[in-house]
Amino acid sequence: MKSIIISLDGWAAGERIFRFHADTEFFQAFDNKEILEAGIDVEIKAVKEGTRKVKADLHLSGTVTVPCDRCLEPLTIQVDTRPDEEFEAPSAEADWDFSQAVYDYTCLAVPMHKVHPDGGCNPDTVKYLGQEQKDEEAAPSSPFSALKGLFDSK
Ligand SMILES: [Zn+2]
Repeated sequence: MKSIIISLDGWAAGERIFRFHADTEFFQAFDNKEILEAGIDVEIKAVKEGTRKVKADLHLSGTVTVPCDRCLEPLTIQVDTRPDEEFEAPSAEADWDFSQAVYDYTCLAVPMHKVHPDGGCNPDTVKYLGQEQKDEEAAPSSPFSALKGLFDSK
């Protein structure tokens, strides 16, 4: 997996901007089946205050493609987020790994309810999925539920 790591060694106090691109492969390394495709530009603005302290701001922008909740077809979501968290480096002279933060904050930027705009869903899958749900509701007395009742009463 490609990691997002900034090097804090070898530069004096001041500000530095680091840019990375987190692609589909990056997100799939976290074993997230929800993310079908991703292309996130990562900008990390690191500020060294003296020799000991480093703070950073994170900016994530790009797109994430996930299955639509309604029709399961791919749905591309625009991401543009600047987490409120102010990151502080564990040490001012080491590598600083942002991989987990980039992954976490990208996932947080994806809404809970992910559906295509009205009319954008695949009508065939919606019809199919809707049908399946109705079948489940209308069949409480399947052979299996009857069996389950038998065992429960013992
Ligand atoms: Zn949809």
